Amino acid sequence: MTPRDASSLAWDKMGGLIPAVVQHAWTGQVLMVGYMNAEALDATLESGFVTFYSRSKERIWRKGETSGNRLSLVSVQADCDGDALLIAARPEGPTCHLGTGSCFATEAGGIAWLDRLSGIVRERAAADAGESYTARLLSEGIARIAQKVGEEGVEVALAAVTRDAEGCVEETADLIYHLTVLLEARGFGWPDVVAALRERHEG
Ligand code: AMP
Ligand code: ZN
Ligand code: ZN
Ligand code: ZN
Repeated sequence: MTPRDASSLAWDKMGGLIPAVVQHAWTGQVLMVGYMNAEALDATLESGFVTFYSRSKERIWRKGETSGNRLSLVSVQADCDGDALLIAARPEGPTCHLGTGSCFATEAGGIAWLDRLSGIVRERAAADAGESYTARLLSEGIARIAQKVGEEGVEVALAAVTRDAEGCVEETADLIYHLTVLLEARGFGWPDVVAALRERHEG
């Protein structure tokens, strides 16, 4: 959205405040809802961080200004009649001030839950190697993680010809978990993998 698009929103009809739904750029999970006036939308577009007008504070409020849990802007779009905004963002921490990822009791559903799995792996990375399998695996280094991925891959292949559907699902889950650890160890994530797949199919 350009400043020009912003000026054509239904500001007058809305009394100068337009509701903005913020969703997780990758999972689509709804994170929070806030209000923007023209100044807040400008500040969002200029800074690249989601900025609201707080009705309780009666001032411009950059999300994360005290907590550090900013929302890094990916895109802004207006709805069909310009009286609502949909914002895609990458959260830098829990979005809700109560400490949860979303202000709504929703989970990233379906395959998008893999992003949550990446988050769990990152959390575990900081744990004690004696308490967490993930922490131990990460501390053993990339060669060990790669070996586990190889083993689990072979187990999936074996399950495919020797076990029932449930067994295949279990082994695939083992493989996906170890792949998640591998991606994290190498500094990539599932969004990168999905982007590579999309590129192949959608160009
Ligand atoms: P923050 O913008 O994260 O630094 O939080 C500053 C203050 O804004 C908090 O103490 C809350 O009062 C409020 N706040 C933060 N996040 C939210 C949210 N997702 N929904 C409503 N209020 C929030
Ligand atoms: Zn509308
Ligand atoms: Zn909240
Ligand atoms: Zn296995």
